[in-house]
Amino acid sequence: MSSATTPGAGRQRNTETMSVTLLTVRGCESAAVKSGRYLVEGRLVVQSVDGKRIRALCRGDGNIYRLGHEPGIGWRCTCPCRTPNCSHLRALRSVVALEPPGPA
Ligand SMILES: [Zn+2]
Repeated sequence: MSSATTPGAGRQRNTETMSVTLLTVRGCESAAVKSGRYLVEGRLVVQSVDGKRIRALCRGDGNIYRLGHEPGIGWRCTCPCRTPNCSHLRALRSVVALEPPGPA
């Protein structure tokens, strides 16, 4: 019968603008895109490379993550992703190589 009146809603709106906002997914989703940005913006700092022991810092979204590679442990990063494929490690792996390139 009567139209439902929602308190606080005021007059009924005919046009509901659904703005799809692409939220910045913290972490893993756009890792490939992010990793490139880290490099371009100079956010990745490789501190030391000693054989297979690699240490680096990466400035992410307001945080600085420590990342690197340890022999016997593998790639690791202190960011919340907890995956060896996070944007920081991707960036790091694209500038350092564990194995030296073979003879040309
Ligand atoms: Zn990370």
